[in-house]
Order: sequence, then structure tokens, then C-alpha cells
Amino acid sequence: MRKDHYIANAWVAPSTGQYLDSFDPSNGQVLVQLAQGNATDVDRAVQAAKQALGETFDGPWGRLSAVERSRLLFKLAAAVTEHAEELAQLEAADCGKSLKTARVDATALARYFEYYAGAADKLHGETLPFNAGYTVLTLREPHGVTAHIVPWNYPMQIFGRTVGAALAAGNACVVKPAEDASLSLLRLAELAAEVGFPAGALNVVTGYGREAGNDLTAHPGIDHISFTGSTQTGRLVAHAAAERHCPVTLELGGKSPQIVFDDADLEAALPVLVNAIAQNAGQTCSAGSRALVQRGIYERVLALLVSRFEALQSGPPALQLDMGPLVNRKQFEQVRAMVEQAKAQGIVEAARGRVHPDASAQGFYQEAVLFRDVPPESDIAQKEIFGPVLAVIPFDTEEQAVRIANGTDFGLVAGIWSRDGARQMRVARKMRCGQVFINNYGAGGGVELPFGGVKASGHGREKGFEALYGFTVLKTIAIQHG
Ligand code: NDP
Repeated sequence: MRKDHYIANAWVAPSTGQYLDSFDPSNGQVLVQLAQGNATDVDRAVQAAKQALGETFDGPWGRLSAVERSRLLFKLAAAVTEHAEELAQLEAADCGKSLKTARVDATALARYFEYYAGAADKLHGETLPFNAGYTVLTLREPHGVTAHIVPWNYPMQIFGRTVGAALAAGNACVVKPAEDASLSLLRLAELAAEVGFPAGALNVVTGYGREAGNDLTAHPGIDHISFTGSTQTGRLVAHAAAERHCPVTLELGGKSPQIVFDDADLEAALPVLVNAIAQNAGQTCSAGSRALVQRGIYERVLALLVSRFEALQSGPPALQLDMGPLVNRKQFEQVRAMVEQAKAQGIVEAARGRVHPDASAQGFYQEAVLFRDVPPESDIAQKEIFGPVLAVIPFDTEEQAVRIANGTDFGLVAGIWSRDGARQMRVARKMRCGQVFINNYGAGGGVELPFGGVKASGHGREKGFEALYGFTVLKTIAIQHG
């Protein structure tokens, strides 16, 4: 199978005629050949987006009213629901995720579009009290052409929360999916055209990050960049944006803790502790990759975690097991190397899951791994692994738990498990991160809840109205009328 770029509501062959191989992580075989985008292809997409907007927002997309954009987004949400199974199958094959996870992602994607469809015509500026003889008001205007660099772990969901918000606010989008996971996003661009989005409102250019991704972030016609991925690439993107004074939103992952106090409801906490790291085989920016457990319940919690980890199974997406393969060889080798390094450092592996016998030996299957008594300063407790590896760390006091929880370069999400209301709020207020969950983790991923990090986890917020604000520029108009 070969796939071209999708620009201005049409399939467009790469200007060089070159295609790259994208692999099926369940067996290591080529799944699809993708157009290998370069600066010429990126420019074509940016020009299409500019035309859709028009010089002064008078183009076929730029002149639509908020309610017209809202109606198109509702239609796209309905199309996603209608094609949910097809999209889930594409995503499962492309990323290797269990089909049941991919189905959840397709449902979430429809919900993102629905939310932003409903929000589009509720986004407005304000009138401000000012000196006598003046009326002052603010307008929320789109940036213009927004670039969206989407990674391979949750392509549909990340597309939904960034592109959905950007379109609702009136921007025209150019999307660069990951070379490992482009299929669902290409199909979505096609669906957007089918439901009536004007040509150029939504464009997808595939290719390598270092080539097409880099060309997109450097393009002078881009007015805002939304990036989700690694801290290293995020830094490159921020540099490229700084060269042109271009605003940028960075969502760069984390090393998120869940703190389990002695008085926690363990029946509620246990499945969540496991799912927070097993979900999508740990390839989740907000994965709960550190479990901080208070000394009084430490051995009990550990024993319960051991039995759950030993039961976790990885296998082909269609089997709908706990986990699919990791996305690619690089990721697979990186996770294995970090596990081996931790063991070489004397950190104790307490449990390991299984790989299903039907899994291909050429697939990138990583068993879930549980490490106990992990020193908080060790690599396995500090670095983002992006695999199903949980570091369990004991603590004695609340102060110590806070110090360990905040003691990494990251700050995306934290979970707190306790029945003590005062402690819940005390600790939540001390967490240096973008989201805190008390007696849950992730709250089901709700689109309504602003999401993003501090420190090396990035800046800017996705989801909720915050994302809409991020995809607009505020213009102040002061009228002197006497
Ligand atoms: P990257 O940050 O390199 O990739 C993320 C996205 O950026 C992909 O679409 C990629 O395209 C693109 N990209 C790569 N290089 C550039 C560039 N120079 N300019 C613009 N865009 C670029 O992450 P990796 O896929 O290499 O994964 C490495 C690690 O990153 C993981 O182990 C994990 O720790 C972290 N990560 C975090 C994610 C999150 O949700 N926060 C998501 C994915 C990874 P392409 O894939 O085609 O190169």
C-alpha cells in the first residue's frame, strides 16, 4: 500500500517521487509506503492553508462564521463515529496498540471534535472598563496557519485535541504525523473533506520528522506550532519557533508519580496503578511510571502489584490483550536497554508479565516489568522510559513523598491516593505539575480538563477552553467616542 500527502482536499504525490517504508510493529514487516515529504511539499500545504484563510480572513475557510465552523466540526465528529471501527483498525495496525485501546481512542477523537464543535461559537472577547469617553473591547482571532507535529503513541487523540481546537478557533492546519503512525490522520483529512471542510483548511504532509517536520517548523508561513513528543525534539522545535518569534505549545511527556498513602483505598488504587503504566504498553506521556508507596503498606502493595504484573500479557493487537507491541525497533531496544541497565545497577526486578505465544518473534513485544525499592535518583526513576516499566519507591513521611514526587526534571501529572481530605489538598497544592488526580488517575482523559506540563514536560495547555485560548490571539480595540 502507498499513501500520498493530503493537501487541499486531494491526494498529492511527493515532489521528489520518494516514499518511505513504515513498519507493522506486530511483525516487523512493511505496512505502508508513505510520501516522503520535503520543503516543497510542506510549502505546498502551507500555501493551501493560506489560501483557505485568505489575506484578511476572507478566504473560503477564513470567512466562515463560528457557527459554520461549529457545524462542520459536528459533522466531522459524526463521521468519526460512523467510521470508528475503520479508524481503530488503522491505528491498531499502524501503532501496534491493542484493538480495544484503539477503539477507545476513536471514541475519544469523536468526543474531541464534538466538544470543540460546541465551543466554537462560545469563544469570545470581552468589553473592558476604561476611561470615560472610551469603549474598549477584545477580540479572539485565529493565529492563521497552525502546524501540528503529532507523535505515534496516540495519533487520533492528539490530533483531536490540537487540530480540533485549532479549527474551532478558525485556524487552517498543516499536520505532520509520525512516520510510524500516519494512516489514521490521512484518513481523517479525507473525512474532513467529505463532510465539507473547504480545501486547505486541513492538510497532512507525511515524512520523516528530521525532514518534513523540521521544514514545517521552519516555514515562515506558520503562525503557531503545536508539538507533542520528546524533550530533545521539543527543544529543536522551540529553537526553530524562536527564530521567527512563532508561538509554540510543547507537550513533552513525563515521569509521573502516584503517591499511595497508608490510608489509601487499595482496592480502588491497585487496578489504576497497573493500568496507568500498562495502558498503550507504557507509551503514554502521562503514564504513571513511578509508584511511591508509604512504608506501612509497602510489602502488601508490592505483593498485590506482583500478582497483577505477572498476569499482564502482550500480544498482537487483534487479540485485544493488555498490551500490543512497542511502536518500533528503536523504542523496543531503548526500553530493553533501560531495563537491563537497572538490573545491572542492582535494582530488583520484582515481577515480569508475559508475551502471548501467537506473537511473532519479529514483533516488538516487551513484557511489563516491575522494579522494587527503586532509588529515587536512579535512571529508572528519573528518565522517561516510554515502556511498561513501573518503578516502586518506598517513603516514610508526607514531606518525603512530596520531595520524591517533585524530584525529576518533569512535571506533567501526579496521582494521590489517601482518604484524608486535608492531606489530599495539602499534597495536591505542593505538586509541581499540570494535573493532579486524587483517588483516581486521569479522570478518564476528559477533553474538558486542561492538560499540559511544567519544567521539561513542556508548556502551554491542550484540552478544554484553555486550548482554544492558546489557538487564538487577543486583539484589543479602543474606541474614543467622547
Ligand atoms: P520525537 O520527539 O522525535 O517525535 C515526535 C514527533 O516529532 C514525530 O512526529 C516526529 O516525526 C517529529 N519530529 C522528529 N524530529 C523532528 C524535527 N527535527 N522537527 C520537527 N519534528 C520532528 O520522538 P520519538 O518518536 O523519537 O520518541 C522518542 C521518545 O520521545 C520516546 O521514547 C518518548 O520518551 C518521547 N515521546 C513522547 C511523547 C509524548 O506523548 N509526549 C510521544 C512520543 C515520544 P517522525 O516520527 O516522523 O520522526
